Amino acid sequence: MDLASHLELKNYVSLCKECRNRQGFIDRKNLDEPNECFICNNLMSKLGTISNSLVTRLSDGYEFRTFQIGVSLPSSYIEREDNIRSRLKIKGRNSIKNQFLLSLREMLKHTLLKEIDYVSPDLRIDLVINEKNEFFFNIIPTPIVLACKYLKKRRGIAQKNKGLADTRNQILEKDSQRENSFSLEEVISEYLKQLTSGVKVKFSWIGGEDKESLVLGKGRPFFAEVIGAKRRVVTEHNISLKENGIELYVLSVSRILPQSPLKFDSTTRVSITAERLVSIKDLECLTSLSGRTIWFRNKKKIIRKAVHSIKVGKIDGLNFVLDVFAEGGLHIKQFVGGKEYCEPNISTILGLKCECLSFDIMDVWLRDRHALEVFQRPLSVKMSVNEMA
Ligand SMILES: [Zn+2]
Repeated sequence: MDLASHLELKNYVSLCKECRNRQGFIDRKNLDEPNECFICNNLMSKLGTISNSLVTRLSDGYEFRTFQIGVSLPSSYIEREDNIRSRLKIKGRNSIKNQFLLSLREMLKHTLLKEIDYVSPDLRIDLVINEKNEFFFNIIPTPIVLACKYLKKRRGIAQKNKGLADTRNQILEKDSQRENSFSLEEVISEYLKQLTSGVKVKFSWIGGEDKESLVLGKGRPFFAEVIGAKRRVVTEHNISLKENGIELYVLSVSRILPQSPLKFDSTTRVSITAERLVSIKDLECLTSLSGRTIWFRNKKKIIRKAVHSIKVGKIDGLNFVLDVFAEGGLHIKQFVGGKEYCEPNISTILGLKCECLSFDIMDVWLRDRHALEVFQRPLSVKMSVNEMA
């Protein structure tokens, strides 16, 4: 017997049924199955166990319509199969990894009644198998993007968290005054994590305001990307939060954040104090700012924003109110005081030193048509009872 046929016989005898068939060996008769398959260590017979284990974990609250699964097998399995194939000149057959994955996918599809999506699945399963055929897996839901809006009807709530520079002491201190120091970001983040059983929320704001500012009108739109969301079916009955002066509405669900910042306009009611008494006549000249372009410094950049119109509101001694309808992102305090570079600004137009006391966002309008659609689209992600299971 030459070496090739010796090998053929040896390996043929010591391969499991699946590994034999995969090489295209004719099925043998009256022979017991080998104790241990030369290629896969009998991994193929463990497919059912692995599939069951995955199904059990996935039944634990994961909502999805489509999935994708990837596997990493020990390289020795692949090498042993390659070895046999090169010696016996077997070509064009399915590999162990392929067969394993195909079989597992079919099993899962069948049991879960879900579709495979290679491009953008609702969740991904990463499976790792070691030399002892022990298996480990990660279930990774694709992030969901929620188009939301909020209203702030109470002053003293910061929009964003204070950043990451907090020392341990600062955090403890913050915790002790938590009642009055929570931010909108924290409240919304906690709510959305609960709503979706998510792990983390990333915000993509469309403009911002001061801690002391109110946000009224239709509210400020923004995007929240929820990482690790087990529940991704956000239906209408559970989408709003009214708490501590914050109102949150989840408007629609999608997968991707907009590629560029959204353009918007806003109306801001600005309370201003002047260094001496002003009359309505003094303030009339401010309407000349309507339709002007305002240049100002933002960090290290000089940027420009358009002011569409300015309306003079109540005057009370040194104080007066302006409604500024302008392109989103205009720095209101700079526009009033002109302490930092801002041209033209209210103080220089009036020839009078003014200071912004506070400002409230009366309304926000998205300018981009696509964005409007995103925020106006009703929640339409509905699933059948079966899919929800
Ligand atoms: Zn095998």
